[in-house]
Amino acid sequence: MELSRRHALAGAAAIAAAPLLPVKAAAPVAEKQAPSFYRYKVGDIQVTVVSDGRNTFALEDSFIVNAKKEEVGAALAQAFLPSDTMTIYFAPLVINTGGKLVVIDTGTGPVAKANSKGLNGLFADNMAAAGFDPKAVDMVVISHFHTDHVNGLLAADGTPAFPNAEVLVPAAEWKFWMDDGEMSRAPAGRMQNLFKNNRNIFDAGLKRKVTPYEWGKEVAPGLLAVETAGHTPGHTSYVLSSGSGKVFIQSDVTNNPTPFAANPGWHASFDQDGDVAEKTRRRVYDMVAAEKLQLQGFHYPFPGLAHVEKDGSGYRVIPTPWNPTT
Ligand SMILES: [Zn+2]
Repeated sequence: MELSRRHALAGAAAIAAAPLLPVKAAAPVAEKQAPSFYRYKVGDIQVTVVSDGRNTFALEDSFIVNAKKEEVGAALAQAFLPSDTMTIYFAPLVINTGGKLVVIDTGTGPVAKANSKGLNGLFADNMAAAGFDPKAVDMVVISHFHTDHVNGLLAADGTPAFPNAEVLVPAAEWKFWMDDGEMSRAPAGRMQNLFKNNRNIFDAGLKRKVTPYEWGKEVAPGLLAVETAGHTPGHTSYVLSSGSGKVFIQSDVTNNPTPFAANPGWHASFDQDGDVAEKTRRRVYDMVAAEKLQLQGFHYPFPGLAHVEKDGSGYRVIPTPWNPTT
């Protein structure tokens, strides 16, 4: 009490003694960051990570099917994050192989941009800010058929956002989501909505003009498709390599590493087969940790380039330092 009173008196005295400052118009407070993209090299190939923004929602027990929201909140608080909300980031890639301009995944799309008031759906804007023309894209490679990866395939008017690009999709993913029997058996709610969304994107929007690809094949120069099923039946990751450079592009092997890297046994509600997704997660993270392989994460905090180490029963993520040059 005494201390704060003395502080207040000293403060008042300082104000009284201070010369009058010239009156100046206040600088406007900017509400947004600069357009977010980040470039790095893998051998001769240039990777540009392009932010699509983020989504923040209240934590519910239903978010992780085998952990209570209090446990999840405690894991978030340990990382100095709010314990009652979850934030998910989105970051598609633009890869310049020298010969080809390749996009991997497309973000949440123009409808999400309008609905979120610009918190996400920013891929097209940030890609333009990074100097890329969507008409110049040769190939769009899709990792799996969730809305945050496919909805940017269409522009706001429902036409293809990358009009000159070949669209490559995992064969197993195409088979599952375009199967009428699977669609008719899908549980009401999220799964039915995903089927409807995929039919809208691939039937109405792209008129089924896609090229299915198999795992274990090079889908674009230097880009090897790797089976990482579980999150969805055809979920795919990639190894991008050029010269001695190599990066593992994990897609959604984990979502945001906080809390999922430290807790690889937690099954997010959007993992279609939680057990298979967990086996895949542990197999991939054991491999990248053992090989000290750099990893690029679609849902990692921007720009999402990191290394992974084993840490107890889970993993620790060490983000790669920001580099002003590529
Ligand atoms: Zn995703």
